[in-house]
Amino acid sequence: QSDLTGEIAVVTGGASGIGREICLQFAEAGADVVVADLRTEPRTGGTPTHERITEETDADATFVDCDVTEQADRETVAETTAEMGGADILVNNAGIFRGEEFTEVTEAEFDQLMDVNVKSVYFLSQALIDQLLDDGGRIINLSSVAGLEGSGDFISYCTSKGAVRLMTYSLADKYGPEGVRVNAIHPGIIETSMVTEDVPIIGGESEDAFLQTVPLREFGHPEDIADAALYLASDRSEYVNGESLVVDGGSTHT
Ligand code: NAD
Repeated sequence: QSDLTGEIAVVTGGASGIGREICLQFAEAGADVVVADLRTEPRTGGTPTHERITEETDADATFVDCDVTEQADRETVAETTAEMGGADILVNNAGIFRGEEFTEVTEAEFDQLMDVNVKSVYFLSQALIDQLLDDGGRIINLSSVAGLEGSGDFISYCTSKGAVRLMTYSLADKYGPEGVRVNAIHPGIIETSMVTEDVPIIGGESEDAFLQTVPLREFGHPEDIADAALYLASDRSEYVNGESLVVDGGSTHT
């Protein structure tokens, strides 16, 4: 029932981290995948996602050089999937983190964060909605536990991820009657370059303090989020719509 054979999935930010693992799991489940990213190689190095899919699975994979903040690039994604027969699944995963002090964030930095984390989700969904409406599509948005709970340590990021959460519920309301399901995933701390490099949560001096906030006492892995994405993409979740799926080892509700 997690079979995605014959489906066409777009994953933004699919070159690295969580998006890469989502692409791999979707391909293993039979979906043809469009990897839409600024870069081809993963941030940690290694074989590009689309090449791994072609080498290791029976699925097709296409890379689209796409900055999700650029309308022309979003249109290229839509043209690519239209030529393939139309997108069935859109995973709005591309995102960036900002951890600056509230008083230090400039307007340009705030705009960039909103462009990548919020506006791109809105306008790529808009670009693909006709294709998704064709045959019971699904949209999966990567929010964060930071989109559920505020934090004085990264106010602009929480603002962006909270917006993604309400965009998810609103799209679920609008398109549910027409057969498109829209859900959000809220990861906790997942071991990717975002939390080892952009903000040194793992590997930094406060690593253990962060770990103590997680009841399962381990950080998550991209596979944990890909499992959730596969569930939301497949028929196993056919009555799930407008949902926030929290995958955080228990840290938010404890
Ligand atoms: P990552 O930095 O490892 O990977 C992000 C990918 O997105 C990269 O390949 C990057 O090139 C791409 N990307 C960034 N800006 C882009 C743009 N403008 N256009 C196209 N592609 C772009 O990050 P990750 O940890 O895999 O994060 C994936 C998503 O999960 C993000 O939305 C992030 O906010 C969210 N998230 C991550 C965590 C975590 O702990 N890692 C927690 C909660 C939510």
